[in-house]
Amino acid sequence: MLIHLFRQYLFKGFSFIAVVLLGDLGVGKSNLLSRFTGTETTEIFATQRIEIDTKIIKTQVWDTAGQERHNALPRTHCRGAVGALLVYDISDRITFENASKIWLKELRDQADSNIVIILVGNKSDLEHCRAVITDEAKVFAIENDLLFIETSALEGSNVELAFRNLLTEIYKIVTARGP
Ligand code: GDP
Ligand code: MG
Repeated sequence: MLIHLFRQYLFKGFSFIAVVLLGDLGVGKSNLLSRFTGTETTEIFATQRIEIDTKIIKTQVWDTAGQERHNALPRTHCRGAVGALLVYDISDRITFENASKIWLKELRDQADSNIVIILVGNKSDLEHCRAVITDEAKVFAIENDLLFIETSALEGSNVELAFRNLLTEIYKIVTARGP
C-alpha cells in the first residue's frame, strides 16, 4: 500500500516520504536526526533532501517526543511511514534487547507490512564499552529481514549512510516493480 504511494511520489511528484525513528530513550535518536538534517535535537520531525540514483528524494524524518520512556508509542507514530530506523546503543545491551523485542514488535504491529527497517547500532565511538557484538546484531538483522549499520551520531560517522541505505533499499523495491 505505502510502497504504492511512494511509487506515485517518485513518478508523479509527491511531497515528502516519511521515515520514523524508534528505540529506547537515550540511544541517540534525536542526535541522529539532527546530524542528518542539521536541525536542533529538540525537533520532533525534520526534513532532508537526499540524492539517490540521480533522483532527489525529499525525506521527512519523525522522531519520538519522549513517549518511548513508557515503552509504547502513539498508534499514529508509524502512520504513513515507508521506512524506519530501529536504534539501539552498542554500549547498552538492554537497548538492543528492547529493540529486538519491544520496538520491532511495535513496528510490526503498527506499521505498514511493507515498511523497510534498518537496525542502527548507535554510539559506535564507545568501542571500549561495547556490549553488543557487531556480528550478533548482523545475524539478528538478517534473520528478521532488516538492514543493518553501526553509527556514531556524536562523531557523525555513518549517519548519512544509514539514511541513504534505508532510502536506497526503498527506492530499489519501488523501481523494481516498474512505473
Ligand atoms: P534519544 O533519547 O534516543 O533521542 O537520545 P539522544 O539523542 O537525546 O541522546 C541521548 C544521549 O546520548 C545524549 O547525552 C547524547 O549526547 C548521547 N549520544 C547520542 N548519540 C551518541 C553517540 O553516537 N555517541 C555517544 N558517545 N553519545 C551519544
Ligand atoms: Mg529524543
